[in-house]
Amino acid sequence: METTTAFDGLSCVDCGATFDAETTTHRCPDCDGILDPTYDYDRIDLTPADLDRQEGDSMWRYAELLPFPRSAAVSLGEGATPLVECPSLADAMGVGRVLLKDEGANPTGTFKDRGQSLAMTAARQHDATDVALNSAGNAGQAAAAYAARADLDAHVFLPSRAGFTQKAMTEVHGAALTVTDPMDGNSQIGDAGAAYAAAMDEHPEWYSAKTFVTPYRHEGKKTMALELLEALDWEAPDAVVYPTGGGVGLVGMHKAAREARDLGWTDELVPMYAAQATGCAPVVEAYESGADRHEPVRDDDIDTGCNGIAIPDPGASHLILEAIRESEGGAVATTDREILDAAIEVAREEGLEVGATCAAAASGAFALADAGEFGPDDTVVLLNTGAGNKDVDTLRAHLGEREGTDAEPDAPEADD
Ligand SMILES: *Cc1c(COP(=O)(O)O)cnc(C)c1O
Ligand SMILES: [Zn+2]
Repeated sequence: METTTAFDGLSCVDCGATFDAETTTHRCPDCDGILDPTYDYDRIDLTPADLDRQEGDSMWRYAELLPFPRSAAVSLGEGATPLVECPSLADAMGVGRVLLKDEGANPTGTFKDRGQSLAMTAARQHDATDVALNSAGNAGQAAAAYAARADLDAHVFLPSRAGFTQKAMTEVHGAALTVTDPMDGNSQIGDAGAAYAAAMDEHPEWYSAKTFVTPYRHEGKKTMALELLEALDWEAPDAVVYPTGGGVGLVGMHKAAREARDLGWTDELVPMYAAQATGCAPVVEAYESGADRHEPVRDDDIDTGCNGIAIPDPGASHLILEAIRESEGGAVATTDREILDAAIEVAREEGLEVGATCAAAASGAFALADAGEFGPDDTVVLLNTGAGNKDVDTLRAHLGEREGTDAEPDAPEADD
């Protein structure tokens, strides 16, 4: 296996046991806990000044802080996404700066590419032939793309509620797609998870690329925080607001912020805020009640059109909650109406396209600003996890509804 100098294996976040990454590939063999890549930080001699001299073409410029080197990478040029100044939003929120990290610029249109780039790199290092996962949609599409790049056969399980684009592109990339309950149109990620689990029982040789089953997806997403901190000259922003489903990105970013601090590149952690939709907000509920883990939301109670964060049972909620609390961030839920209104406001005020799911970060930031969470000089970063054109139907439908209701009341304006 081709690994980086400092990478020294996997450690179980639940029982603390450590394992060789060559022979252990997924969950903890002892307790089934989540495995986390570990490093010997003394062997990282990279500095911010060295980074200045490196190519900024993809997330692989941070390979020294990843398990695998650039020469082993299964890459489509993911990462190195723009950080866009949003002055109108800053005015509206009453803060110094709002910056939007635009992950829509990734090869398949979402930050899922970073995780799949690393997971497929690992799959190749472990000589996998087939990869499999269930997903809400975007991770399935990304896995299909990177599996194609890596010459692996992908098996993707999506719920019927996943978007048309995600289902279509999964097949365009040549993956075997299973959509659960295609006729009912409202099956959930748990249904796709059950179909995936049954298939894995039949094909134990398939290599999982599922959230927190592979140790490498959250590791790939560390690079979002490294890019962000580097763009801010290694000065931590006051808040990162992140649309949270399974928490892969939030946990990965927090890990990177910790590493940057421990390496002496930054002084402070990055306050991480989880934004969810009120129609499926297990992390926000757990945060507010002071719990260490979430209570699952029943499938029948899921009531949001934001597919990417309609995750009723996030298995890593203890890590998400720990990251939020350790970084002194927070958690906020807003309604679908607020989320979709925010998507339209960002598109109109800043010209930026944010998807229905991603707009939860914008509406969440507005709600946090209203609650007095931010100071007038704060720098607030919105993580736009994916491109707006991933769910144009939801956005357009909302616009139609707004126009429908706006047209009804009162007499027409007299002065037009
Ligand atoms: C997957 C996804 C999320 C949630 O990501 P997690 O890291 O699992 O919390 C948010 N937005 C979009 C667009 C996604 O595809
Ligand atoms: Zn364990």
